[in-house]
Amino acid sequence: MNLDLTEQHLALRQLVRDFMEKEFAPVAQEFDDREEFPVDIVKRMGQLGILGIAFPEEYGGGGYDAVSYVITIEEISRVDSSMGITVEADVTLGGAPLNHYGTEEQKRIWLAPLAKGQMLGAFGLTEPEAGSDSGATRTTAVLHGDEWVINGTKCFITNSGTPMTGFVNITAVTGKRADGKKEISTILVPSGTPGFTVSKKYRKMGWRASDTRELSFADCRVPKGNLVGRQGAGLRQFLETLDEGRLGVAAMGVGLAQGALEMSLSYAKQRVQFGRPIFEYQEIQSKLVNMAINIEAGRLLCLKAALLKDRGVPYTKEAAMAKMFTSEHAVLAASEGVQIHGGLGLMDDSPISRFYRDAKFLAIGEGTTEIQKMVIARRL
Ligand SMILES: Cc1cc2nc3c(=O)[nH]c(=O)nc-3n(C[C@H](O)[C@H](O)[C@H](O)COP(=O)(O)OP(=O)(O)OC[C@H]3O[C@@H](n4cnc5c(N)ncnc54)[C@H](O)[C@@H]3O)c2cc1C
Repeated sequence: MNLDLTEQHLALRQLVRDFMEKEFAPVAQEFDDREEFPVDIVKRMGQLGILGIAFPEEYGGGGYDAVSYVITIEEISRVDSSMGITVEADVTLGGAPLNHYGTEEQKRIWLAPLAKGQMLGAFGLTEPEAGSDSGATRTTAVLHGDEWVINGTKCFITNSGTPMTGFVNITAVTGKRADGKKEISTILVPSGTPGFTVSKKYRKMGWRASDTRELSFADCRVPKGNLVGRQGAGLRQFLETLDEGRLGVAAMGVGLAQGALEMSLSYAKQRVQFGRPIFEYQEIQSKLVNMAINIEAGRLLCLKAALLKDRGVPYTKEAAMAKMFTSEHAVLAASEGVQIHGGLGLMDDSPISRFYRDAKFLAIGEGTTEIQKMVIARRL
């Protein structure tokens, strides 16, 4: 397996790194404090092509591979996780279902503006009674003539209410299968459809500049043609979608830990106690060394899963391993980072405290650590 990055990968990494360091790093803390979605900055990312890298060129995307996607998400999250989850959810949760299962017309109308970075997409799977057990969906969609009539509630949905949001793909029960189980399908609901209500933003411990909302559907009608993929294939589709999502969240874990390492290393070299920079104490070096090793290991897990995806072979186990490993180690890296910063690390305006709050989300979103273990165990 060749893990060398190509010239194209390296150029992409530099582009994203430059953008994040120049355009977002100076204001990341302010957006987090204000719990404000940075719409103008996300638009600029769209103009640069960052939101479309993973989509086919024929729809206005960059046509890059999965390795490029992982590099992009890592670089964004090295500076800020709210931006990391915004891009991850847009690409893999909003766009990927259309890219893989959508009709030509759906791709032209909905995927193309996403690929060009003019619109954001969302994916509504989670419900109040269907979290880890996502097949327990209660939202229903009943065909009346040429329209689906949707009723139900979705919770914790990323990108669902930003000024750039164009649609949400939701899972809904559309009937009963021959074995008596629920038939679940994916349906695209455009923002602003009557009967589709988007609540105000949740107030969150972390990922504060990202947009997360509850959605409710009351006799919400969308055209029959908004079915994404085959009727009844929703369960399989969202499991495949989550593989890509987990790859993205895994890359977020690497990026967050990398950012935490860099700021902790820099602080350790300039903070003097007992007459020496604290970096010179073995206890501090040990923390930094462990962070660096786990980042490298997590990055390799991500790259392996991405390379398998690019080859078109199953990568469910590898994506789950990468997601579980990097999210747990991001939590640890952020915690050690705060420890190295001492009291300063506990202050709200200290970037490492933002990383600490953000890290925990990685171990819960898109399948908790416990669920990743189930996914991996089934494939051992
Ligand atoms: C900020 C944020 C953004 C999100 N964005 C989206 C989004 O865009 N779209 C979307 O659809 N969802 C989204 N989610 C939802 C997220 O995917 C769920 O929160 C997550 O899957 C866990 O579900 P839950 O919160 O209902 O927890 P639960 O499923 O209730 O789990 C509670 C605890 O029980 C454990 N548990 C559950 N079942 C088992 C089991 N069988 N064995 C062992 N332990 C178990 C879990 O691991 C966890 O520790 C988001 C969540 C957050 C917080």
